[in-house]
Amino acid sequence: MNSPYPPIYLDNAATTAVRPEVLSKMLPFFTEKAGNPSSIHTAGREARKAVENARRQVAAALGAEAREIYFTAGGSESDNWAIRCAAAETGKKHVITSAVEHHAVLHSCRAMERDGFRITYLPVDENGMVSPADVRRALTDDTALISVMAANNEVGTLEPIQEIGQLAREAGVLFHTDAVQAAGAIPIDVNAWNADLLSLSGHKFHGPKGVGALYIRKGTRIHNLIEGGAQERGLRAGTENVPGVVGMGEALSLAVAELPEYAAHVSALRDRLIQGILSAVPDARLNGHPTLRLPGNAHFSFPGVESESLLMRLDLAGIACSGGSACTSGSLEPSHVLSAMGLSPDLGRSSVRFSLGRDNTAEEIDRVLTVLPPIVADLRSHMRS
Ligand SMILES: *Cc1c(COP(=O)(O)O)cnc(C)c1O
Repeated sequence: MNSPYPPIYLDNAATTAVRPEVLSKMLPFFTEKAGNPSSIHTAGREARKAVENARRQVAAALGAEAREIYFTAGGSESDNWAIRCAAAETGKKHVITSAVEHHAVLHSCRAMERDGFRITYLPVDENGMVSPADVRRALTDDTALISVMAANNEVGTLEPIQEIGQLAREAGVLFHTDAVQAAGAIPIDVNAWNADLLSLSGHKFHGPKGVGALYIRKGTRIHNLIEGGAQERGLRAGTENVPGVVGMGEALSLAVAELPEYAAHVSALRDRLIQGILSAVPDARLNGHPTLRLPGNAHFSFPGVESESLLMRLDLAGIACSGGSACTSGSLEPSHVLSAMGLSPDLGRSSVRFSLGRDNTAEEIDRVLTVLPPIVADLRSHMRS
């Protein structure tokens, strides 16, 4: 009883497929150009050239210098590294973050609490937004670092990063932002944002999985998370993931070049989906900020419906979306993001994230709008009986 329609992928916040033009740039580095960038022979030098080219691509996308870009094994590593290894270098013992961060940030903070750090988890308003005034109030003489994400991975809310960065700069405190969802979706400028540290992940913008980057502003003190060889200016050991790094650089460069078209296309589809759901599904509730949200994010609660059941029914109909973040799905706990926004546990467990991408079409959105309302109605009728 699988759907006769081609599958509709609306889980782009969980991951995206590698673009063909990105894959073709990567492939030679698995085979005929498989040299180690640290080797001095021709094959090694070719790999080195490719890694340094990717570093320039990533730097250009952020308004950074190439020497401020360090490749990692993904967004989670970048978050861990930034928070745990830069804060410790300041000699101070207080970190400010928000209650709606990705677990890579929140669990890094938890780990630091065990090392004697005091962490302030800032609340958010009903739209999932952090208040810069709260950041200002939380600052102390002992504050080492502020970490607030640029865009939320569950509800898509864009945080007031520029204001928070400004506060950090004025207080002489390090500012880290998890820009994993922002990259390729909204413009990033490490200088306008006053970011000292910024995390990226390749697979969220049609690059490969298992590769990421950390921007580290020059002059920022940080120690290694991964010890070993002298790769990445001695700060991140391990033979470079050359095909991954090449793919990430190419994917980000394409995403930034195409950003205006992407944002126009995807936000039009998002608005079509939001308007359609609000008018066709009784009591549907849009979560996240009504306007200051990622172009591709539409997040809803459907009271009286369990998201697990809804996701399964949508999957059978060939529609892939998510109950929150991919990382928390499978757990019965309502999302920490929705709880922080003040949603009841029941409402939290009735929530679905549709995250749109460059390959989605208006026809796909219209198909969702045909399929979804009767499924919600049917699930609600079972709940009542
Ligand atoms: C996906 C994601 C991460 C984790 O990135 P990985 O490369 O999967 O480790 C971190 N932060 C946010 C906001 C994300 O969406």
